[in-house]
Amino acid sequence: MIELRTPTQIEQMRPAGRFVASVISALAEKADVGVNLLELDAMAHDMIRAEGAESCYIDYHPSFGAMPFGKVLCTSVNEAVLHGLPFDYVLQEGDLLSVDFAASVDGWVADSALSVVVGTPRQEDLDLIATTDRALATGIAAATVGNRVGDISAAIGDVARSAGLGVNLQFGGHGVGRTMHGDPHIANDGRAGRGLKLRPGLVIAIEPWFLHTTDEIYIDKDGWTIKSSDGSRGAHMEHTIAVTDDGPLVLTARG
Ligand code: MG
Repeated sequence: MIELRTPTQIEQMRPAGRFVASVISALAEKADVGVNLLELDAMAHDMIRAEGAESCYIDYHPSFGAMPFGKVLCTSVNEAVLHGLPFDYVLQEGDLLSVDFAASVDGWVADSALSVVVGTPRQEDLDLIATTDRALATGIAAATVGNRVGDISAAIGDVARSAGLGVNLQFGGHGVGRTMHGDPHIANDGRAGRGLKLRPGLVIAIEPWFLHTTDEIYIDKDGWTIKSSDGSRGAHMEHTIAVTDDGPLVLTARG
Protein backbone atom coordinates (compact mmCIF):
# COMPACT_ATOMS: atom_id res chain seq x y z
CA MET A 1 0.00 0.00 0.00
CA ILE A 2 1.28 3.45 -0.92
CA GLU A 3 0.92 6.01 1.86
CA LEU A 4 1.30 9.72 1.26
CA ARG A 5 2.31 12.07 4.08
CA THR A 6 0.93 15.54 4.65
CA PRO A 7 3.34 18.49 4.83
CA THR A 8 2.82 18.45 8.61
CA GLN A 9 3.76 14.78 8.79
CA ILE A 10 6.87 15.40 6.69
CA GLU A 11 7.86 18.11 9.18
CA GLN A 12 7.33 15.53 11.94
CA MET A 13 9.73 13.17 10.13
CA ARG A 14 12.58 15.68 10.19
CA PRO A 15 13.86 14.79 13.71
CA ALA A 16 14.24 11.14 12.69
CA GLY A 17 16.11 12.21 9.56
CA ARG A 18 18.38 14.55 11.51
CA PHE A 19 19.08 11.89 14.14
CA VAL A 20 19.92 9.19 11.59
CA ALA A 21 22.17 11.67 9.74
CA SER A 22 23.98 12.50 12.98
CA VAL A 23 24.61 8.82 13.70
CA ILE A 24 25.92 8.19 10.17
CA SER A 25 28.24 11.22 10.51
CA ALA A 26 29.50 10.03 13.91
CA LEU A 27 30.13 6.54 12.55
CA ALA A 28 32.04 7.91 9.55
CA GLU A 29 34.20 9.94 11.92
CA LYS A 30 34.86 7.02 14.27
CA ALA A 31 35.52 4.38 11.61
CA ASP A 32 39.28 3.92 11.37
CA VAL A 33 42.00 1.31 11.27
CA GLY A 34 41.94 -0.52 14.63
CA VAL A 35 38.26 0.10 15.41
CA ASN A 36 36.11 -2.98 16.05
CA LEU A 37 32.75 -3.26 14.25
CA LEU A 38 31.18 -4.02 17.64
CA GLU A 39 32.42 -0.62 18.91
CA LEU A 40 30.59 1.07 16.02
CA ASP A 41 27.39 -0.81 16.87
CA ALA A 42 27.79 0.09 20.57
CA MET A 43 28.28 3.76 19.69
CA ALA A 44 25.12 3.78 17.57
CA HIS A 45 23.27 2.01 20.39
CA ASP A 46 24.44 4.66 22.90
CA MET A 47 23.22 7.41 20.56
CA ILE A 48 19.81 5.69 20.26
CA ARG A 49 19.49 5.59 24.05
CA ALA A 50 20.58 9.22 24.44
CA GLU A 51 18.03 10.33 21.84
CA GLY A 52 15.20 8.16 23.17
CA ALA A 53 14.96 6.71 19.66
CA GLU A 54 14.03 3.17 18.68
CA SER A 55 16.17 0.85 16.60
CA CYS A 56 14.53 -0.54 13.46
CA TYR A 57 17.07 -3.36 13.28
CA ILE A 58 17.45 -5.00 16.66
CA ASP A 59 14.20 -7.02 16.55
CA TYR A 60 14.07 -7.15 12.76
CA HIS A 61 13.22 -10.66 11.59
CA PRO A 62 12.05 -10.81 7.97
CA SER A 63 11.45 -14.00 6.03
CA PHE A 64 15.00 -13.98 4.63
CA GLY A 65 16.63 -13.53 8.06
CA ALA A 66 17.68 -16.59 10.04
CA MET A 67 16.99 -14.94 13.41
CA PRO A 68 16.26 -11.45 14.82
CA PHE A 69 19.11 -9.15 13.77
CA GLY A 70 20.16 -8.36 17.35
CA LYS A 71 22.26 -5.25 16.51
CA VAL A 72 21.30 -1.65 15.75
CA LEU A 73 23.66 -1.15 12.80
CA CYS A 74 24.65 -2.89 9.59
CA THR A 75 28.41 -2.97 9.03
CA SER A 76 29.41 -4.44 5.67
CA VAL A 77 33.16 -4.73 5.00
CA ASN A 78 34.85 -5.23 1.61
CA GLU A 79 33.09 -8.09 -0.24
CA ALA A 80 30.12 -7.63 2.12
CA VAL A 81 27.79 -4.91 0.85
CA LEU A 82 24.38 -5.13 2.55
CA HIS A 83 22.90 -6.25 5.87
CA GLY A 84 26.34 -6.81 7.40
CA LEU A 85 25.86 -8.23 10.88
CA PRO A 86 28.43 -6.56 13.17
CA PHE A 87 30.91 -9.09 14.54
CA ASP A 88 34.20 -9.11 16.39
CA TYR A 89 36.34 -7.66 13.59
CA VAL A 90 38.95 -4.92 13.79
CA LEU A 91 39.05 -2.67 10.72
CA GLN A 92 42.25 -3.05 8.68
CA GLU A 93 44.21 -0.69 6.47
CA GLY A 94 42.24 0.02 3.28
CA ASP A 95 39.00 -1.70 4.31
CA LEU A 96 35.87 -0.49 2.53
CA LEU A 97 33.13 -0.16 5.16
CA SER A 98 29.45 0.45 4.51
CA VAL A 99 27.26 1.42 7.43
CA ASP A 100 23.47 1.31 7.18
CA PHE A 101 21.33 2.69 10.00
CA ALA A 102 17.60 3.14 10.53
CA ALA A 103 15.82 4.37 13.61
CA SER A 104 12.46 5.70 14.66
CA VAL A 105 12.07 9.06 16.44
CA ASP A 106 8.64 10.28 17.55
CA GLY A 107 7.14 7.30 15.70
CA TRP A 108 8.69 8.12 12.32
CA VAL A 109 11.51 6.21 10.65
CA ALA A 110 14.54 7.43 8.70
CA ASP A 111 17.07 5.19 6.95
CA SER A 112 20.50 6.07 5.56
CA ALA A 113 23.74 4.40 4.50
CA LEU A 114 27.27 5.51 3.69
CA SER A 115 30.45 3.84 2.46
CA VAL A 116 33.94 4.93 3.53
CA VAL A 117 37.47 3.59 3.27
CA VAL A 118 39.58 3.43 6.43
CA GLY A 119 43.30 4.09 6.20
CA THR A 120 44.92 4.40 2.79
CA PRO A 121 42.31 3.79 0.10
CA ARG A 122 42.61 1.93 -3.19
CA GLN A 123 41.69 4.24 -6.05
CA GLU A 124 39.21 1.67 -7.42
CA ASP A 125 37.35 1.72 -4.09
CA LEU A 126 37.14 5.51 -4.09
CA ASP A 127 35.85 5.35 -7.67
CA LEU A 128 33.19 2.76 -6.72
CA ILE A 129 32.03 4.89 -3.79
CA ALA A 130 31.95 8.02 -5.98
CA THR A 131 29.89 6.22 -8.64
CA THR A 132 27.43 4.94 -6.02
CA ASP A 133 27.13 8.41 -4.53
CA ARG A 134 26.55 9.90 -7.98
CA ALA A 135 23.84 7.29 -8.61
CA LEU A 136 22.17 8.29 -5.34
CA ALA A 137 22.27 11.99 -6.26
CA THR A 138 20.95 11.25 -9.76
CA GLY A 139 18.19 9.06 -8.37
CA ILE A 140 17.18 11.72 -5.86
CA ALA A 141 17.13 14.38 -8.61
CA ALA A 142 14.64 12.21 -10.53
CA ALA A 143 12.29 12.01 -7.53
CA THR A 144 10.10 14.88 -8.65
CA VAL A 145 6.32 15.24 -8.79
CA GLY A 146 5.00 13.84 -12.07
CA ASN A 147 7.95 11.52 -12.65
CA ARG A 148 7.53 7.81 -12.03
CA VAL A 149 9.37 5.28 -9.90
CA GLY A 150 10.92 3.95 -13.11
CA ASP A 151 12.56 7.34 -13.70
CA ILE A 152 14.42 7.01 -10.39
CA SER A 153 15.41 3.42 -11.17
CA ALA A 154 16.53 4.26 -14.71
CA ALA A 155 18.58 7.24 -13.48
CA ILE A 156 20.43 5.01 -11.01
CA GLY A 157 20.92 2.22 -13.54
CA ASP A 158 22.28 4.64 -16.16
CA VAL A 159 25.01 5.80 -13.76
CA ALA A 160 25.97 2.19 -13.02
CA ARG A 161 26.09 1.21 -16.68
CA SER A 162 28.11 4.26 -17.69
CA ALA A 163 30.67 3.21 -15.06
CA GLY A 164 30.68 -0.35 -16.38
CA LEU A 165 28.96 -1.76 -13.31
CA GLY A 166 26.21 -4.36 -13.19
CA VAL A 167 23.08 -3.88 -11.11
CA ASN A 168 21.47 -6.44 -8.82
CA LEU A 169 17.68 -6.04 -8.63
CA GLN A 170 17.04 -8.19 -5.55
CA PHE A 171 17.43 -5.37 -3.03
CA GLY A 172 16.68 -1.70 -3.52
CA GLY A 173 14.89 1.31 -2.12
CA HIS A 174 11.53 1.31 -0.38
CA GLY A 175 8.80 3.39 1.16
CA VAL A 176 9.57 4.76 4.64
CA GLY A 177 7.10 5.87 7.28
CA ARG A 178 5.95 4.46 10.60
CA THR A 179 7.97 1.35 9.73
CA MET A 180 11.23 0.87 7.87
CA HIS A 181 10.04 -0.97 4.76
CA GLY A 182 6.92 -0.06 2.81
CA ASP A 183 5.78 0.26 -0.78
CA PRO A 184 6.88 1.13 -3.35
CA HIS A 185 9.99 -0.89 -4.11
CA ILE A 186 12.60 1.28 -5.85
CA ALA A 187 14.79 -0.98 -7.97
CA ASN A 188 18.29 0.24 -8.82
CA ASP A 189 17.60 -0.14 -12.52
CA GLY A 190 14.47 0.05 -14.61
CA ARG A 191 12.63 1.75 -17.41
CA ALA A 192 12.00 5.49 -17.42
CA GLY A 193 8.35 6.49 -17.59
CA ARG A 194 7.15 3.24 -15.97
CA GLY A 195 5.75 2.43 -12.56
CA LEU A 196 4.03 4.42 -9.84
CA LYS A 197 3.59 8.14 -10.47
CA LEU A 198 5.40 10.22 -7.86
CA ARG A 199 3.10 12.44 -5.85
CA PRO A 200 3.77 15.00 -3.11
CA GLY A 201 4.03 13.26 0.26
CA LEU A 202 5.68 10.07 -0.97
CA VAL A 203 8.57 9.30 1.40
CA ILE A 204 11.11 6.78 0.17
CA ALA A 205 14.60 5.50 0.81
CA ILE A 206 16.74 5.49 -2.34
CA GLU A 207 19.72 3.18 -1.98
CA PRO A 208 22.04 2.27 -4.84
CA TRP A 209 24.61 -0.40 -4.06
CA PHE A 210 27.10 -1.74 -6.56
CA LEU A 211 29.84 -4.35 -6.70
CA HIS A 212 33.10 -3.95 -8.63
CA THR A 213 32.89 -6.91 -10.98
CA THR A 214 29.63 -8.80 -10.47
CA ASP A 215 25.94 -8.34 -9.74
CA GLU A 216 25.68 -11.75 -8.06
CA ILE A 217 25.42 -12.13 -4.31
CA TYR A 218 25.08 -14.77 -1.61
CA ILE A 219 24.16 -14.72 2.07
CA ASP A 220 27.00 -15.41 4.47
CA LYS A 221 26.74 -18.25 6.97
CA ASP A 222 25.84 -15.67 9.66
CA GLY A 223 22.40 -15.70 8.01
CA TRP A 224 22.40 -11.97 7.24
CA THR A 225 25.48 -10.50 5.60
CA ILE A 226 25.17 -10.20 1.82
CA LYS A 227 28.44 -10.65 -0.06
CA SER A 228 29.55 -10.51 -3.67
CA SER A 229 29.75 -13.90 -5.36
CA ASP A 230 33.25 -13.21 -6.70
CA GLY A 231 34.80 -11.54 -3.65
CA SER A 232 34.85 -8.10 -5.26
CA ARG A 233 34.09 -5.13 -3.03
CA GLY A 234 30.81 -3.24 -2.80
CA ALA A 235 29.58 0.25 -1.94
CA HIS A 236 26.19 1.42 -0.67
CA MET A 237 24.73 4.93 -0.36
CA GLU A 238 21.25 5.72 0.92
CA HIS A 239 19.07 8.67 1.86
CA THR A 240 15.46 8.97 2.97
CA ILE A 241 13.71 11.62 0.91
CA ALA A 242 10.27 13.16 0.60
CA VAL A 243 8.76 14.01 -2.77
CA THR A 244 7.36 17.54 -2.45
CA ASP A 245 5.97 20.24 -4.70
CA ASP A 246 9.27 22.04 -4.15
CA GLY A 247 11.33 19.05 -5.28
CA PRO A 248 12.95 16.19 -3.41
CA LEU A 249 13.61 16.92 0.28
CA VAL A 250 16.53 14.90 1.69
CA LEU A 251 15.47 14.13 5.26
CA THR A 252 18.77 12.41 6.14
CA ALA A 253 21.05 15.13 4.71
CA ARG A 254 24.30 15.38 6.68
CA GLY A 255 25.48 18.79 7.81
MG1 MG B 1 19.11 1.49 5.11
